[in-house]
Amino acid sequence: MHLRRSATAYRGRIALLCSLFSAACSTQPAPSVVGPTPKPVPTVAPARPAPTAKPAKPATPQAPRAGSTRAFALPAWGAFDSAVARGTRTLTGEPGPAYWQQRTEYHLEAELNPVSKRLTGRGTVTYHNNSPNTLDTLYFQAYGNLFAPDAKRNTQLLASLGGINFTKVAAEGRALDSTAVGAGWTVSGTIMALRLPRPLLPGDSIELEFGWNLRVPPDAPRGGQDRETYVLSYWYPQVAVYDDVNGWQIDQYLGNAEFYMGYGDYEVALTVPEGWLVASTGTLQNPNEVLSDETRTRLARARAGGAVVSVVGEGDRGAGKATTKGSAGKLTWRFKAENVRDVTWATSNLYLWDATTAPVGDRLGRGVPDTTMIFSFYRPDQRRNGWGQSAAYAARAISVFSRVLWPYPYPHMTVVDGPASCGGMEYPMMTCIGGDWNVRTLFDVQAHEIAHMWFPMQVGSDEKRYAWMDEGMAQYFQSIAIDAQFPDADDAGENRRNYVGAARFGKETEMMRYGDKYPDGNAYGIASYFKPAAVLVALGGVISDSTVLQGLREYGRRWSGRHPMPNDFWNTMNEVSGRDLDWFWRTWYYETWKLDQAIDDVVRTSPDSVTVTLESRGRAPMPVLLVARGAAGATTSLLVPVDVWFQGEKEVTVQLAVPTDFTRLEIDPAERFPDADRSNQTWPR
Ligand SMILES: [Zn+2]
Repeated sequence: MHLRRSATAYRGRIALLCSLFSAACSTQPAPSVVGPTPKPVPTVAPARPAPTAKPAKPATPQAPRAGSTRAFALPAWGAFDSAVARGTRTLTGEPGPAYWQQRTEYHLEAELNPVSKRLTGRGTVTYHNNSPNTLDTLYFQAYGNLFAPDAKRNTQLLASLGGINFTKVAAEGRALDSTAVGAGWTVSGTIMALRLPRPLLPGDSIELEFGWNLRVPPDAPRGGQDRETYVLSYWYPQVAVYDDVNGWQIDQYLGNAEFYMGYGDYEVALTVPEGWLVASTGTLQNPNEVLSDETRTRLARARAGGAVVSVVGEGDRGAGKATTKGSAGKLTWRFKAENVRDVTWATSNLYLWDATTAPVGDRLGRGVPDTTMIFSFYRPDQRRNGWGQSAAYAARAISVFSRVLWPYPYPHMTVVDGPASCGGMEYPMMTCIGGDWNVRTLFDVQAHEIAHMWFPMQVGSDEKRYAWMDEGMAQYFQSIAIDAQFPDADDAGENRRNYVGAARFGKETEMMRYGDKYPDGNAYGIASYFKPAAVLVALGGVISDSTVLQGLREYGRRWSGRHPMPNDFWNTMNEVSGRDLDWFWRTWYYETWKLDQAIDDVVRTSPDSVTVTLESRGRAPMPVLLVARGAAGATTSLLVPVDVWFQGEKEVTVQLAVPTDFTRLEIDPAERFPDADRSNQTWPR
């Protein structure tokens, strides 16, 4: 999901000279710059720490955690330790040898009636129990009950017109009653408990059957309808996640905190009026039945590569033109998607359809670049919001992320224009973007949502408990795409200023907090979007941007299609960087410690050296990068390692070689770190 920044955050753009710090910190040759702030790389000779600074202890990702004192260790987490003991997780960040994951196959049919605005669905769900445990009860997400009049919510809705109405629930052909006794089902809020007629043993599977209907709500968060477009998200009973660390994730969907979804295969048949276009997760299985010859010809032209093709223009819409003529005025569109965590679809009779391709790198290992299809569906009047550019923008974001992360694995990326309440929202292979944008900001929101195709669509984290694991990643990577498209942008700096603005005044809440338990939306936004993005940029200042990206790629290799926990991410980064970074994770993810490094005093001890007294006025320990400048522009630098602060020191004195015409000393001139008060970082002040 996208969070709009406050207007004040856009003020005061400060150019980042980001790579200054990574060049000084990296133990490797200067990396090729693909981090979020690819600005010119100033040459800085790495300087040795002054003798008074304690040298960093050699760190290994395995215990003992040499670099961390107890104060900076990660808090104990019994459930994760138990998973390590059982062999499903490890301390190196790899899935354990005994890692398991549930799997589901969905065969779903749905019909949308735009007059009554009702969706009627039915289908079968086959659940495979790959866990070592016997299950008596399965849990399903009935997200649609967010719109029931008596629903518990922590978000405002314009209307609540009713929830999801189950017309059939059956297991292995046997109809089950809504009952609290014996085999049967009950619904509490947005969670259905389905007590099975027989225990589901490890390795066994069971087929369930559902019938349901719901009113498609207007202006619903993350979907719904605005009378012209219908975005059908969270529209079917979806199996809740049962994982190896936390068991069932069956917390209510209250509107704010997002989702945790398992992986499965889907076949869906979607019936809409003829002439309506359907965009969906998955690959269209029956183009000959629903698309006109002309539409298919134009799609083939788009598939051949090159410019954006108008597959359906303003004069092409309607039955017998864009689509075939249906029977009884309807057409059924069939889609198939494998190994995805959800299927979302959108439909309208007003949509235009643009298509092109995007390079994704050598996805199939054939030694040649592969491509994916890019589709954009939007109403003509959305051109005022920049939608004429949307296909080209999506192609750009897909190709950038495919390069810095790994090749986009899906057959298409589809961006749809939807109700304003979509804001910006992600689903597998799809985004819905609504509301007012322009040719500049539409790129930003698309880049953010498309970054979600990697996190959490591929790397399937628990968004409810750890919103930073997908939102923070998306916010970090949107900066990389924005920098590629608009080199004058300072998106990473805006993230940092948003976080610092809150941290300065004690208005932040720790990142490791359940997504529905923040005091307000602003605190949730800071902790889930801006701070985690700023923190990854700061991590690049500690281990280099290229190592951060290398770590994220390895994390993706290990956890794509799986369910990583925070410790899996941290342990992977520890291992890839060869550093014990637990002090970093503890400081930035669990605490609200402020970073405030200050120059307290500078004494000239010889023509070419100074003694500097540094202060840590906040509680966050970080390395200190000092840069000295001479009047003629020469610079020297010193990297003071983080562990000078590990015993609780508030002050440290270092020696620094300076140019003989030394005039100025500064901490972190590139503003790599989210320091709460930059006014005390220069000398003379
Ligand atoms: Zn997001």
